[in-house]
Amino acid sequence: MSETIFNKIIRKEIPADIIYEDELCLAFKDVNPQAPIHILIIPKKSIPKVSDAVKDDHNVLGHLLLKAGEIANTLGVKDAFRLVINNGEDAGQTVFHLHIHLLAGRRLNWPPG
Ligand code: 5GP
Repeated sequence: MSETIFNKIIRKEIPADIIYEDELCLAFKDVNPQAPIHILIIPKKSIPKVSDAVKDDHNVLGHLLLKAGEIANTLGVKDAFRLVINNGEDAGQTVFHLHIHLLAGRRLNWPPG
């Protein structure tokens, strides 16, 4: 599996503003926030993209979504937030370690760019 900056954050080799952690995932503030609340929720397992996930990953993928909802609740934005997963360079993915963006705290327009 390829090494990314997110692996270094998981191993605490570089700092991040971590707001949640358990055995399967980590959630931390995006360093370049696109909304007043911008959290990244990542699996500890290195899955580069959603399209690389395999059947055995269904537990961790479900876990990420459940945690996203819980984190939104904890942050007080459960009624209005957006989850985004960019898959591939042309879709805007820049870090090839699967991650869910949780965006909230401002009006979120549709369709996204
Ligand atoms: P992508 O473009 O791959 O969907 O999202 C990658 C996200 O990771 C971007 O929003 C970017 O700001 C964030 N990011 C990249 N490097 C770091 C880092 O070192 N620390 C944190 N906290 N966020 C990062």
